Amino acid sequence: MSRKTALITGSVSGIGLGIAEAFAEKGYNIVFNGLEKDGASIAARVAERYQVNHFFSDANMLEPESLRGLVRQCVDCFGGIDVLINNAGIQHVSPVESFPEDKWNAIININLNAVFHLTKAAWPYMKERRFGRIINIASAHGLFASEYKSAYVAAKHGVVGFTKTVALEGAGLNITCNAICPGYVKTALVEKQIADLVESRQLSEKEAIDDVLLKKQAVKEFVPVKLIADMALFLASDNAAAITGIALPIDGGWSAQ
Ligand code: NAD
Repeated sequence: MSRKTALITGSVSGIGLGIAEAFAEKGYNIVFNGLEKDGASIAARVAERYQVNHFFSDANMLEPESLRGLVRQCVDCFGGIDVLINNAGIQHVSPVESFPEDKWNAIININLNAVFHLTKAAWPYMKERRFGRIINIASAHGLFASEYKSAYVAAKHGVVGFTKTVALEGAGLNITCNAICPGYVKTALVEKQIADLVESRQLSEKEAIDDVLLKKQAVKEFVPVKLIADMALFLASDNAAAITGIALPIDGGWSAQ
């Protein structure tokens, strides 16, 4: 059993929660984060189930100083940071012509800028120990575009570019940096898109899923959270030491087209 420490942003919901559970099962100390009101109790339940050390932080991805504080808190509590998983993210769907500027700024700040701030803050500790695993949950939208998702696609493409750059800088330091690019996963983020499609385009839920969301995936099923979590675990392992700078699709064949 490992006693390494993983800081996972947005880890009391959806994909992040699945990743936190997978790392907890392997004995990692877990730093949970997210804005859910019941975040602390969700985190405590997972930690209790797997008997791991943990703390929960509601540090907001919009506040760089809070993110620096989160990394300091992680180091004070567990002596370092071995794995940083930048997962927190939001979505907003709108034509570019009417895309609200506050939504644009929030998406770029949460989905992209926070990845930079946390990586920068964690870097000296990883460098000092000559070990680090940075895993960015990008998206198939880090590789491909879809209409009406300009901010999200821009942010996720930015994350993929940032991942490659950080991989090059970490190469001599045993710090790897990789991006996972999931297709559609049925989480709160996607449930909202389904509800919005049902309302705005007068579609049934099945039509919204089959004809809009899963249209680009060859496999017409949502990607299970566990597949992403298991891949994150592998990328954090010693066996993945030579894998760095990749943007790995787990997208049901979306990228095969
Ligand atoms: P989710 O809504 O279930 O979880 C998002 C998490 O991020 C929550 O814990 C939320 O509190 C947190 N978060 C949001 N804004 C925050 C902020 N300002 N400060 C701190 N935490 C904040 O969504 P999800 O689908 O699990 O998404 C997780 C990641 O996976 C996102 O980066 C998303 O872009 C990416 N992704 C999702 C899908 C999908 O289909 N669901 C596909 C590809 C990529």
